[in-house]
Amino acid sequence: MAVLEHITSQDAIALEEQYGAHNYHPLPVVLKKGEGVYVWDVEGKKYYDFLSAYSAVNQGHCHPKIVGAMTKQAQTLTLTSRAFYNDMLGRYEKYVTSYFGFDKVLPMNTGAEAVETALKLCRKWAYEVKGIDENEAQIIVCNNNFHGRTTTIISFSNDPVARKNFGPYTDGFIKVEYDNLKALEDALVNNKNVAGFLVEPIQGEAGVYVPSENYLSKAKALCEANNVLFIADEVQTGVARTGKLLAVNHDNVTPDVLILGKALSGGAYPVSAVLANDSIMNVIKPGNHGSTFGGNPIAAAVAIAALEVVKEEKLAENAQKLGEIFRAKLDAYIQTSTIAKLVRGKGLLNAVLINDTEDSDTAWNICMKLRDNGLLAKPTHGNIIRFAPPLIITEAQLIDCINIIIETLKSFENK
Ligand SMILES: *Cc1c(COP(=O)(O)O)cnc(C)c1O
Repeated sequence: MAVLEHITSQDAIALEEQYGAHNYHPLPVVLKKGEGVYVWDVEGKKYYDFLSAYSAVNQGHCHPKIVGAMTKQAQTLTLTSRAFYNDMLGRYEKYVTSYFGFDKVLPMNTGAEAVETALKLCRKWAYEVKGIDENEAQIIVCNNNFHGRTTTIISFSNDPVARKNFGPYTDGFIKVEYDNLKALEDALVNNKNVAGFLVEPIQGEAGVYVPSENYLSKAKALCEANNVLFIADEVQTGVARTGKLLAVNHDNVTPDVLILGKALSGGAYPVSAVLANDSIMNVIKPGNHGSTFGGNPIAAAVAIAALEVVKEEKLAENAQKLGEIFRAKLDAYIQTSTIAKLVRGKGLLNAVLINDTEDSDTAWNICMKLRDNGLLAKPTHGNIIRFAPPLIITEAQLIDCINIIIETLKSFENK
């Protein structure tokens, strides 16, 4: 078989199985094309995408404006490294900082890199501005967090699958229960070595766990009172996903450090960012941090286009409105359902809890059936299914999808 010949789903899966590391467990569907809310498999079957590459494709697959910006820049200048200036980076930096309301940005590529960057920034600020003794800084994180896969980040994960046999782990982190202000306060008071609080405004990977109203604003106030940086990881929740530009906007919180990734590029290219004001970001000096690809001209062009699409197509407003419809319709069905227990979420980041034990394969089987019925979604943490379509989805498309989801769930009733 020639490498670029047409292949069947079975062949494609077999190739990954044999030649790729087994670090994922994908749903068996092999995609070859995407447009808007739709993706197609190699046999030509069309699906609604209800994962959106973990909320990277908020603007829809292959958005013409984003792909256009990427193509144009790719034909002009792709990479200079930061050893030289380029004519795109400054323009992007001005655009993204005014868009989100911060003085400065530090550009990176992936979400995990941006989280690492934020942790380094927080520590350096702690030593040079707050005045913590060298090597004593601690950062508070939450149980069941997901911030990526690097050695430092998995050091403060409590997911055994992500952690086991990857030690020794990085020190300097304190874990508290999510959505528990008392626990945060206890960790903050009488500890002069706390530098930051790293938090997801909604815990996406944990199963779309939405904290209580005002949790974030009160946590921010506690951080302020203790001169601790409030670091929001909005890699999944940011860029209109939850019905506002940022999920923290629902609670009127301005983080000290904001971490973005995923939809910052509309899924076209790896682009991530750490945003902060000068009083924090100015601790970073030449040589302290960097990345060969971070802030490259393609990334800059793509991110500007992707952020323009969010405003031009009113994606936050659409996510807000359609999210209400999604939860209302699912909720009405769940009242009498034996298979679905609960729907929760914000905007178009939602999850349905399946009425079975956490180690059961019911959620997986439902996702297989959804696939057969033309809709792609993936279980997260056993018995929870996340539903996160591209934010360009129309009301009519969403209603169509809600019907698919409810009919599929119904086929599992009392089984
Ligand atoms: C996906 C994700 C990350 C990691 O992003 P990568 O690009 O996969 O490294 C970090 N934080 C959150 C909240 C995420 O959802």
